[in-house]
Amino acid sequence: MASASAAPVARERTYIMIKPDGVQRGLVGEIIARFERKGYKMAAMKLVKPSTEHMEEHYADLKDKKFFPGLIKYMTSGPVVAMVWVGDGVVAGGRVLLGATKPSESAPGTIRGDLCIDVGRNVCHGSDAVESAEKEIAHWFPEGVAEWTSHSESWVYEA
Ligand code: UDP
Ligand code: MG
Repeated sequence: MASASAAPVARERTYIMIKPDGVQRGLVGEIIARFERKGYKMAAMKLVKPSTEHMEEHYADLKDKKFFPGLIKYMTSGPVVAMVWVGDGVVAGGRVLLGATKPSESAPGTIRGDLCIDVGRNVCHGSDAVESAEKEIAHWFPEGVAEWTSHSESWVYEA
């Protein structure tokens, strides 16, 4: 049985961000609860109002898309909740919890399927690959994240 002081097992990490509409609509607790209930471990969280430059870098891969200016305006319109979540398969698993990008295609039971309607107001971001997750974590948490062992570790993982 792991103790609170045991060195944490290194597991996959993802970057999850509750978007300005999620914050404004009071969905922060609801979204966090879904990640907690699944068994993922939180490693970092902060409420921030990012600059345009910071958000443009986060979405740099999309800079040639028609929706990019609107996306940046939306994403800098208010505070976001930036988080790091840890767990086996958490990058893909986090995307499952989020649901499809377009809420019209997101399954009921997913965050987007249950909580939003418009692709331009889809309440939450999740990294799409392990490599982009690590890049996004470094971008949003240059100060580093918490290393800790959850008392639930041996109840979430067989080994
Ligand atoms: N987006 C949009 N219109 C589109 C496609 C995407 O406004 O046609 C926004 C939407 O908020 C989405 C974000 O741009 O979450 C990033 O797009 P991406 O394709 O990376 O989707 P995600 O990874 O967020 O599911
Ligand atoms: Mg994406």
